[in-house]
Order: sequence, then structure tokens, then C-alpha cells
Amino acid sequence: MIFGFDYDDVRYFRMARTVFGRATYWTGMYLVDGLLVDSGPPNLARDVRRLVSELAVRQCVTTHHHEDHSGNHGLLAGELRITPLAHPSGVARLAREDTHPQLYRRIAWGARPPAATAPLGERLETTRFRFQVVHTPGHATDHVALFEPERAWLFSGDLYLAPKLRYLRADEDVYAMMDSLRRVLALEPRVLFCQHRGRVEQGAARLRDKLDFLVDLGGRIHELHGRGWSDAAIARALPGSDLLWRLWTGGDFSKRNFVRAFLRTTSAR
Ligand SMILES: [Zn+2]
Ligand SMILES: [Zn+2]
Repeated sequence: MIFGFDYDDVRYFRMARTVFGRATYWTGMYLVDGLLVDSGPPNLARDVRRLVSELAVRQCVTTHHHEDHSGNHGLLAGELRITPLAHPSGVARLAREDTHPQLYRRIAWGARPPAATAPLGERLETTRFRFQVVHTPGHATDHVALFEPERAWLFSGDLYLAPKLRYLRADEDVYAMMDSLRRVLALEPRVLFCQHRGRVEQGAARLRDKLDFLVDLGGRIHELHGRGWSDAAIARALPGSDLLWRLWTGGDFSKRNFVRAFLRTTSAR
């Protein structure tokens, strides 16, 4: 299912695969002045095909290679003769098949077909807007956010998601994520467009909340580690429960990953 939202010059399409009428995992894409930001998960290809045939899409940009964001790039190339853009570090990866996506990813989003993309530069222009491309690794190494200085819009991909994360993916780099949050905060965005949440009110304050939360969490993990606690004991002491996510993702999303991520790079910093 796909729902459309209009935020003046920006349209948001919130989408999810449904199982017995219930959404499995919401994600989304934006359309701003002919620029499509991400292309949705591969298992919604039929809906996305119908949708883009009704929209005046002239360009597409990838916030990162995850299949819920890049799953219909090949379709865009075929239907609309568009080569989506991606951060240079993501181009080769997007051109390859994702060989072993975990079961939860195949259920929620489907397997991403390989797609040709062209490398993004530092700027991206539409007829009416000029976007600054900001490399924001952490959630994924090829992650980018788009900043439009006149409007102070920030299209944040998966950099924001929530002010307080309850779990981390096994492949996320929490220090890079914090640096990326600092980088976008320095731009002083006013309006935040999150790929999974839509427009977020008081975007800069929410991004700051997320950064503060991660700084506090890292401090707590280091403190407990310094007292000789095991990784498992530290993870149990962190706020909230990750049990359902851990079970659903086979451990790919967990609080334990926070502990590993914060302690992993201690010696390197
Ligand atoms: Zn992602
Ligand atoms: Zn995502």
C-alpha cells in the first residue's frame, strides 16, 4: 500500500508491503520538483511503477544502498529512461546483486535487483532548487543527505529515524553516525524529511536530541565497560527492550550492537 502526503513543494509517499492487511515495515520516498528521493522496496515494484507513471519524475537520487530505498532503480531506468544517482562509494554495490539478504529483509522488502547508477557530485539541481549533497556515513557507508539552503530543508534518508534508538544494526558505525549528525546540524536545517517518518517537526532539535542520546549512551557503555561489565550485561542494562527486533531480525538489530559499536573503535580514537 502507498499513501501520498503533500507538504507544499514536497510530496511524500509512505509505503509498505501488507501481510493479511497489515503493513510489515513502513518506508517512503519523496518527490520534489521532479527529483525522486529513493525508489522504494523491490516488493512494491508494481505499485511504484504505477505511481511513477503518473508523476513527472526527471531525476532520482539514492540516499543509500539499502533495498527499501533503492529497490526500484532498475525499474526507473526501464520505464522512465532515468539513471539514478548514488554516492560514488555505493555505485559498484548497487550494480551487484545482494547475494544473501537476511530472511527478515526478504520478507519485509524483497531482494534488490542490480541497477546501474551514476555517481553523485557535491551538488544536485532541479529547475527550482539547488541541493547540497552531504556524505553522512554511519547507518550505511554510502549514505547521503540532501540540504536545500534557501528552504533549509534536509532530506535525511535514514540518518534520523528516531530521537532515541533502541537498537543498532550489526553493520552500523555509531561514531560515523554521530559525526554525520554534527555535520548536518552545522547546516542549521529547519525542516527535516525522514525517509521512514515523513516530515518531522522541529527537525534540528530532533537531530540534536538524537546526537545527545548517542553521546549519553556511549558514555554509559564506556563507564560500565570500565567497571568490568561484560558486553551482554551492559546491553541488558541499556534502556528499553530489543527482544522483538532481535528475534525478528535474527540478531541484526540489537542493543548488543550498540555495545560492540561503541567499544569497537575505542582504541582507534
Ligand atoms: Zn537504511
Ligand atoms: Zn530505511
